[in-house]
Amino acid sequence: MFGKRIDLFKLLGFEVRIDMSWVFLAILVAWSLSTGFFPFRYEGLSAQTYWIMGIVGAVGLFLSIIVHEMSHSLVARQYGMPIKGITLFIFGGVAEMNKEPPSPKAEFMMAAAGPIASLVLAAVLYAVSLIAKTIGLPESVYGVIKYLSWINGLLAVFNLVPAFPLDGGRILRSILWGWKNNLRWATRISAAFGAGFGLFLIFLGVLQFFGGNFIGGMWWFFIGMFIRGAANSSYQQLLVRRALEGEPVGRFMKTEVISAPPAATLQELVDNYFYRYHHKLFPVVDVGNRLVGGVTIKQVRDVPREEWGRRTVGEIAQPPSPENTIDVQADALDALALMSRSSSSRLMVTANNRLVGIISLKDMLSFLELKVELDQ
Ligand SMILES: [Zn+2]
Repeated sequence: MFGKRIDLFKLLGFEVRIDMSWVFLAILVAWSLSTGFFPFRYEGLSAQTYWIMGIVGAVGLFLSIIVHEMSHSLVARQYGMPIKGITLFIFGGVAEMNKEPPSPKAEFMMAAAGPIASLVLAAVLYAVSLIAKTIGLPESVYGVIKYLSWINGLLAVFNLVPAFPLDGGRILRSILWGWKNNLRWATRISAAFGAGFGLFLIFLGVLQFFGGNFIGGMWWFFIGMFIRGAANSSYQQLLVRRALEGEPVGRFMKTEVISAPPAATLQELVDNYFYRYHHKLFPVVDVGNRLVGGVTIKQVRDVPREEWGRRTVGEIAQPPSPENTIDVQADALDALALMSRSSSSRLMVTANNRLVGIISLKDMLSFLELKVELDQ
């Protein structure tokens, strides 16, 4: 879903980015406004005027989504939740949170902030459009303002549908969570609503598509798919978080580690280690049992094959760093986050800067599978 992102600017301490898919949405919005919506509502203007109205409308939509997401982020910051930034993508915007909210009240306030901001914006813009009409500004000006008022209202109403992970679904979850004090149950129920709503939109999309509204139909179809997928994966994510939270890395690591000596040549490394054990990473340990670093198949590949006989493992090993090692006491959830950030499936586990084991994604996943099975 998230392809190439472009950093736009920093606002109130939050990085605002757009995903390339948003550019596609912006063009689609500008095009449908200037060739359909505005000519239908305000007849007799020039094609150029319609295009300017369409482009201003698309930019206004962009700013409206930023206001919405910014409100979520500001409230989240009040409750001490780290927000990495705001990314706009094809189906709107997301404030990137990678933790669950600390309490039902925090979640309620955070979730409600976005739709409230959109509703306020809708009301203000509506008043401005009325004033613009009264003082006799051209149709092209108040038409765009009125459209933006309407789109903000729609943004609020759509997001208030109680389908997790939409804002309304988060509000529902916070209420259920506060009621029974069980986040897992609350997430399961609201995610089920989310998946059901997603299915409803898919169905609506198919109906519209066969009714002749191709773009609108496809649009609802994909939004439905997206919500359904997000609802299902957010419940799974919660299960993973719950299972790994508070478990130290030491519980999952393998202590019999196969490590490579720094003096071995790359050819020996490939023949005696990679081909033999099929691991993606080998720790490099010298005679004094000191951790020199780690070596991956990718680093070997970067060296021309002719040099494999001459170059040694010690030369290319990456020194231990927070990118390839993790402390034995660290939370397993942090290990998982590091794996996804550095896109490596194995990490070296250290205690007082000495190698004590290896943790792999595979071992963590089999633990998860067992734990989820036992909990059901
Ligand atoms: Zn929202």
